[in-house]
Amino acid sequence: MIRVVQKFGGTSVADIDRIRAVAERIKKEVDHGNEVAVVVSAMSGTTNQLVDWTVKAAPLHDAREYDTVVAAGEQITAGLLALSLQNIGVDARSWLGWQLPVKTDDSHGKARIKAIEISEIESRLSAGQVAVIAGFQGVGSTNRITTLGRGGSDTSAVALSAALKADRCDIFTDVDGIYTSDPRVVSKAKKLDRITYEEMLEMASLGAKVLQTRSVELAMNHNVRVQVRSSFCEGDGTLVVNEDEIVEQEVVSGIAYSKDEAKITLVGVADKPGVAASIFGPLSEASVNVDMIVQNVSEDGKATDLTFTVDKQDVERTCSILDSNKGLLGYLRLIADPNVSKISVVGVGMRSHAGVAQRMFKALAEKGINIQVISTSEIKVSILVSEEYTELAVRALHTAYGLDTEKK
Ligand code: ADP
Ligand code: ASP
Ligand code: MG
Repeated sequence: MIRVVQKFGGTSVADIDRIRAVAERIKKEVDHGNEVAVVVSAMSGTTNQLVDWTVKAAPLHDAREYDTVVAAGEQITAGLLALSLQNIGVDARSWLGWQLPVKTDDSHGKARIKAIEISEIESRLSAGQVAVIAGFQGVGSTNRITTLGRGGSDTSAVALSAALKADRCDIFTDVDGIYTSDPRVVSKAKKLDRITYEEMLEMASLGAKVLQTRSVELAMNHNVRVQVRSSFCEGDGTLVVNEDEIVEQEVVSGIAYSKDEAKITLVGVADKPGVAASIFGPLSEASVNVDMIVQNVSEDGKATDLTFTVDKQDVERTCSILDSNKGLLGYLRLIADPNVSKISVVGVGMRSHAGVAQRMFKALAEKGINIQVISTSEIKVSILVSEEYTELAVRALHTAYGLDTEKK
């Protein structure tokens, strides 16, 4: 007998028929004699709708009430799945975050799990009951409902697997594994049998939404055996593993993209010590996350241009902060461009191979795509391009690094 955590994402529980199919799948695991804890997302589209209502009710909303609203979708699917399991003779009950509880910090909208109380669940599992847990939600220090950020049910599942010391954590979704790039954009993307935690962490944080970044971080720290697989068909998916479990390492193992970035340029900023600190200090105090940064060489030694990227949703806040400090910063002009995309190539093999960035620049040049900003780390190279070129750039790079599958 083994202990399994199974997580079902939005499309896997999109309607009653899908929920009943999920119940049948869980029953098979139970019939094998395994202990099963299940984590569910909201029905696909539901969380978007809830977020939309919150924004319409109050554009600058209280994050605590935002969480009360957006956590509601998972309550419905947890109950419906427990009912569907009972209906086919499987002993099951639903659990909301506060009922376990899943304890988090108080950063509403992007809370981090601090601890999960599992004693009650454990005794239910050993009595043969399936625990259906609402993902994405927890409870903060003052007993208010919190949510873990979009895509957060992945993190609920991995954290629960770590707490329960589960033998497997299966993430069921609408694709049959992790691919070399988003299979919805690159039809020639290849399914990977295995990917390292480190590469998946980069891919996720650079835009591959198949797993929430925080879930990969937790899996890596707690050695949780995560497998991404399809809830629509049988078959093995992709295992996320340690580097030493991969025999042959590719130089580049994947291409990720993100359309959630915006580019901010400050023209004519004074070229003197302390200026960068006075630009980025107030932004960081306002929790605006700054990603890529480039500063041009100053021609006259007096003024220069500074370009950086922020989350698209933070553009207005960024502009108003910079505007209110204009007197102090003394720049001439502020240009905000939300129509940009970040494209990244990722691979642990980059550590020991030269020429990876060069191949990227050549492939983009051949397609006439202009690179606006470049940033690199040990295992990735990212570039910023105009948003309209996203798909073209991702496909060109996929081909350039020899990742295209022959079959399709
Ligand atoms: P769920 O609702 O099950 O959590 P998500 O929409 O969050 O599903 O994640 C699955 C989606 O991730 C896929 O439909 C796919 O379009 C996207 N995706 C992005 N990059 C990748 C990748 N490298 N491999 C697989 N899927 C990817
Ligand atoms: N329902 C939440 C969302 O849409 C959490 C998740 O799907 O993982 O972001
Ligand atoms: Mg998801």
